[in-house]
Amino acid sequence: MKAERVLEDLRELARLTGGPDGARRVCWTDEWAKAREFLRSRLDELPVEVTVDAAGNLWAGMAGEGEGFLIVGSHVDSVPAGGWLDGALGVFTAVEALRSQDEKGTAPVGLRLVDWADEEGARFGRSLFGSSACAGTLEVDEVRDLRDRDGERLEDVVARYDVNLTRVNESNGQLRGACAYLELHIEQGPVLESRGEPAATVLGTCGVERHVGVFSGQTAHAGATPMTLRRDSFAATAQAALAIREVGFGHDGVCTVGGAISEPGVVTAVAGRTEMLLDQRHLDPDKLAAMLTEAHEACEQAAADHGCEVELRHLWSIPPIPFDDRLIALARDAVMEAGGSDTAIPSGPLHDAAEMARLIPTVMIFSSSSPPVSHTPEEDTPEDDLRVAIEAYGRTVDGALASAAAGELPPRE
Ligand SMILES: [Zn+2]
Repeated sequence: MKAERVLEDLRELARLTGGPDGARRVCWTDEWAKAREFLRSRLDELPVEVTVDAAGNLWAGMAGEGEGFLIVGSHVDSVPAGGWLDGALGVFTAVEALRSQDEKGTAPVGLRLVDWADEEGARFGRSLFGSSACAGTLEVDEVRDLRDRDGERLEDVVARYDVNLTRVNESNGQLRGACAYLELHIEQGPVLESRGEPAATVLGTCGVERHVGVFSGQTAHAGATPMTLRRDSFAATAQAALAIREVGFGHDGVCTVGGAISEPGVVTAVAGRTEMLLDQRHLDPDKLAAMLTEAHEACEQAAADHGCEVELRHLWSIPPIPFDDRLIALARDAVMEAGGSDTAIPSGPLHDAAEMARLIPTVMIFSSSSPPVSHTPEEDTPEDDLRVAIEAYGRTVDGALASAAAGELPPRE
């Protein structure tokens, strides 16, 4: 693997589809098409067959000696003012994996790059569009009528890119013969930076529980109502939010009260009703369930303490999706050989890899993020850390190719 070639490609992509306001490769737009054109120009230099599947995912396959193939890739789409590395790092490192394999000769099994369509969901709010279609988890009727800011329907917009929504699940056929899926991505958070580590293996994606807590008290005059005679829904929410914070600490998970809206929301009134947004994540399903139970109890206690009632309304959830133990072991060794440590962390954000992990052995590697932010033009990673991450990924690909050739990662039927 020649990390320098990956960095050159990434810089060129940023030049073509970025700028002072950040990356603007929003899926199903001209800028995204331009990013794909650049990707194709790189793939054109290799002995690969490039196709686009029924869900708009781009594939580039290189033949191998044995049966089956490994899938390498990520997504070139971005949020509207995104960073230069989110998704693009994984795609262009996958290009380098193909390129360096081509220089070494025929691979022991095939190698197939994928650029997933619409990972971010930036235009219509449905993330992991292409990978979930491929995994068979995209409910077409739930996304058909999603509209963008200008009121355009998802079904009409994707049709302009030759995607017939009723057929997107045919993308699943791409996985016939797949032995494993490997993805490199930036961490998008502060864990590796805070430990001074360039890269790490990812154990899986956290399960997520999202709820709205609705606290009902009594709207009352701020001057006329003594402190002891209030049913203050905002105070109950505040108490619950702080208690829920401790729940996150207690289970080594993450619990976020991302916002609260009170009614009537005026300076002269005790808030009679407050809605609180709650997001909880953990890699361990039992701990995730325990965190939800304890958050529920914290809400009940806070409501009782303030003479209110509370109801937790379910918004959305997804179970934890663990990655493959054999590939995790390969990746841990690879990260160490590339100059990192034997660190393995869960991913809080979801990734296309989570969709693949439902069906085929999967692993991810993270590079550090420094500053530890993403989905903003400030997103960055020191080049030395990128070099370690790219090298670690290449070694993991080599290890997985060898395992597949040895029959340890049998091709999917
Ligand atoms: Zn991403």
